[in-house]
Amino acid sequence: MNSTKVAVVTGANKGIGYAIVKGLCKHFNGKVYLTSRDETRGIAAVNELKQMGLQPLFHKLDVSDEDSVKNFKEYIEEHDGGIDVLVNNAGITFTQDSNDSIGTRAEVTLATNYFGTLRVCEILFPLLRPNAQVVNISSALGHLSCIPSPNLRLKLSDPTLTIPHVSELMNQFIRDAKNNEHVEQGWGNVAYSVSKVGICALTIVQQKEFDKENRPISVNSVHPGYVDTDMTNHTGALTIDQGATAPLYLALGGHDLKGQYVWFDCSIADWYA
Ligand code: NDP
Repeated sequence: MNSTKVAVVTGANKGIGYAIVKGLCKHFNGKVYLTSRDETRGIAAVNELKQMGLQPLFHKLDVSDEDSVKNFKEYIEEHDGGIDVLVNNAGITFTQDSNDSIGTRAEVTLATNYFGTLRVCEILFPLLRPNAQVVNISSALGHLSCIPSPNLRLKLSDPTLTIPHVSELMNQFIRDAKNNEHVEQGWGNVAYSVSKVGICALTIVQQKEFDKENRPISVNSVHPGYVDTDMTNHTGALTIDQGATAPLYLALGGHDLKGQYVWFDCSIADWYA
């Protein structure tokens, strides 16, 4: 049996994901996979880290492409046998001045941020080893209160919620947005926010499922802070290394957090409040 520990970070060729890989290379006792949807950008990032004396490995992984995630799974199965740390970091947003319709923004944003993350989880979760840590990168905009409708908030926080229910709610938002009824239906006007609320709801359900299966695995969501990256047009106050602090705290274990929504200072936030 292969006993070397394995960490995987999605969307890690730049920004917070890159800094998470950097931190894992320094503090995680095992192999660290820097994954990226674009091979050239991913290899360039790996080479940059190698210049710093670190040893990340590269593998292509596009969270929006089923075959790409399955290829990665097969590779890990063959070479490593399992995964100990999975950081679901890959994400997108539209710029505020985007001319795309809300229907397009909803569909495209959720395809990566929610359904892409869910795809990675569904395909890679069977490889998680006992005591694995899953870190789902959310946002302050993933707080339940970002959804204006009390009825939708009740549905999203229902203790009997299942993953198909969360996905159905996300699909309902896309349909409402395409019909331009999303505001009237109580979703608000920010597709990115809905995608991250979905991530927080998903995290809670995933933890319950692991607990039910008696698999000793922790899944938490995290707001990394407002970080200076391409996504924020470099307006964020935190450096990428500061943004990686809470994700690394969760990824490296040594805490007893399960199904929580964690803030960039590593405190626990109340998702429901
Ligand atoms: P960046 O835009 O700097 O990086 C995003 C990363 O995700 C890039 O590597 C990008 O790859 C990758 N990505 C996008 N789509 C896919 C895909 N389909 N498959 C694989 N990788 C993909 O953003 P940040 O570093 O700022 O964001 C990282 C995470 O943190 C995101 O989930 C974001 O929502 C979240 N976040 C960020 C905050 C901030 O202030 N920056 C605040 C709160 C949350 P490529 O280079 O190919 O585009």
